[in-house]
Amino acid sequence: MERARPLTSRRRLLRGAALAAVPYALLPWPRAGAHVQAPDHPTAEWQPASAANYTRARRPAQYSIDLVIIHVTQTRYSQTLNVFRNPKKKVSAHYVVRSGDGHVAQCVREADVAWHAGDWEHNTRSIGIEHEGWVDEPGYFTGALYGRSAALTAAICARHGIPTDRRHIIGHHEVPGTDHTDPGPHWDWERYMTLVEAAM
Ligand SMILES: [Zn+2]
Repeated sequence: MERARPLTSRRRLLRGAALAAVPYALLPWPRAGAHVQAPDHPTAEWQPASAANYTRARRPAQYSIDLVIIHVTQTRYSQTLNVFRNPKKKVSAHYVVRSGDGHVAQCVREADVAWHAGDWEHNTRSIGIEHEGWVDEPGYFTGALYGRSAALTAAICARHGIPTDRRHIIGHHEVPGTDHTDPGPHWDWERYMTLVEAAM
């Protein structure tokens, strides 16, 4: 998890001010009221983040998506959802996977830019998946968590044409310039990638 400042915040304000004057058909954004509040991943539970914690977008038309970024929450599942709902936190991810049963919550639409990678470029080109646990507590990385997350990643890769390899499915620590270490040394990449392949 990490806050990231979007470069478009001022433009978003201006866009809001312009809504009254510009016909909706001319706007490249969906109307707020028309934004579909339903998960992209059919089995995910919709648990929306505060609109203050991500950037509304039209991906992949607006930004192409070629990365899945794997995170570990460093807090409980329920607390992660609370953080994403809190407009002061300025952080979000598209999905959160619960440790005990692999339950998947979707908090941000895949079309929108979640703030999880730590820099704007990586946020715009990625889908972020948080996993309940701590980098130094491997017991949280259950079979259910690996299995449900791998199925989610496989579905994301299929939807967006992302290759299922380690150049395109990366850990937060592999984002250039980050000081984050998640998912950490106990995350079993070999197991995870095998599960992703099996789910394709
Ligand atoms: Zn992270």
